[in-house]
Amino acid sequence: MKLILIQVFFLLLAQATECKPRPGRKTFNKLLVISFDGFRWDYDQDVETPNMDKLVKEGVKAKYITPPMITMTSPSHFTTITGRWIEDHGVVHNMKFNSTSYLKLTHKATQNQSDWWDNGVEPLWITAQNQGLKTASFHYPGGGANYSGQAVNRALVESYAHPDSNETEWHENIDIVMGWFNQEDFDFVTLYYGEPDGVGHSKGPETKERRDMIKQIDRTIGYLMKSIQQHQLTHRLNVIITSDHGMTTIKKKPQVEEILLSKYLKFWKDVHFDLLDYGGFGMITPKEGKEQEIYNALVNAHPNLTVYQKENLPEDFHLAKNSRILPIVVVGDLGFNLNSRVIFYVNKGDHGFHNGEMDMKTIFRAFGPDFKKNYLAEPFDSVNIYPLMCKLLGVTPAPNNGSLTFTEGMLLGEFDKETPGLTDQIRRHVNATLPLLA
Ligand SMILES: [Zn+2]
Repeated sequence: MKLILIQVFFLLLAQATECKPRPGRKTFNKLLVISFDGFRWDYDQDVETPNMDKLVKEGVKAKYITPPMITMTSPSHFTTITGRWIEDHGVVHNMKFNSTSYLKLTHKATQNQSDWWDNGVEPLWITAQNQGLKTASFHYPGGGANYSGQAVNRALVESYAHPDSNETEWHENIDIVMGWFNQEDFDFVTLYYGEPDGVGHSKGPETKERRDMIKQIDRTIGYLMKSIQQHQLTHRLNVIITSDHGMTTIKKKPQVEEILLSKYLKFWKDVHFDLLDYGGFGMITPKEGKEQEIYNALVNAHPNLTVYQKENLPEDFHLAKNSRILPIVVVGDLGFNLNSRVIFYVNKGDHGFHNGEMDMKTIFRAFGPDFKKNYLAEPFDSVNIYPLMCKLLGVTPAPNNGSLTFTEGMLLGEFDKETPGLTDQIRRHVNATLPLLA
């Protein structure tokens, strides 16, 4: 024991010299944020999920969380990592688009396009780096862009050919991330998986295939929990598991009359540019002088279609301020996709619908040394995850629209307590060394 203590002392002495002081309490644990795209809030309720059930006992579960309005991958993920509403961060769609040049780039093609992501709002990776932390993004939307010329310390961007549902690769990615924390001392990592969004679209949310995917995710969470132990990170790594939006079954003929906008609009004559055929949310730029005409044509066109002129968008959408929002916004009722000229029967499930719909709500789980156990949190908006992440990491937040009010009850009572007699640096390394003594 004496020998171990002497070793620990020299380890602390050696490491303390290279530490940077952090604001706030003692020291701060590491943070891993995992997003499973399109994980609807109730997906764990109709299938066996032993590992997620275990996490309920060992950590925090929110009943559900509400993504921002527009319930799409890039806009929602960027709200999580910035704590800003979509009108502030400017990533208003999965596609990068330009209504003058008619450019449309797919979600994957935008990942290295800094001019799409960098609109003067700083994502947490960059803020944390500027305060001395080491951060990484593994496939997380926006992680591959530069912000004011600054790149994330380490960013892996999803390739076009990347398979969404390969379980072996999922586990390998966890191994890689554990290595980043353990061997390279990263402080904050975001890890993204493209499922269960893929299967929700292709097969629909109420299918065996979707339930099987949830089992696969649950096994992966089990693998993660084991991995954290094996890498001796249990006492110094907090984990948040969340997602960007839910999923709903698309309503089709003859069950309903589908929305087909060409029934009401002359696209060739009146529409300059449109973002439609992309789930329940769409935008239109009318040709010169045609705005009122298009609005009038759509306002009573279909009982399950709502049309807004940009200046009349409800304030709680938090969209109208942004110049990328086009003059006409259309939203379908739950399950009614916004088809433009023809109906492509590809997706059986979709999203983009109003964020107040229960099918668009998503998950929030958390566990680790700073979280309470067996704690059920009331629902909250995903914009509030940002200040929580900042608090966990000891980072002074950039200006944001979130609040700690909804999440601070999840943290252990002693979170903010100073530890007398230990400096920031030493405390950090005591934390880091504990697993060696265990
Ligand atoms: Zn999707």
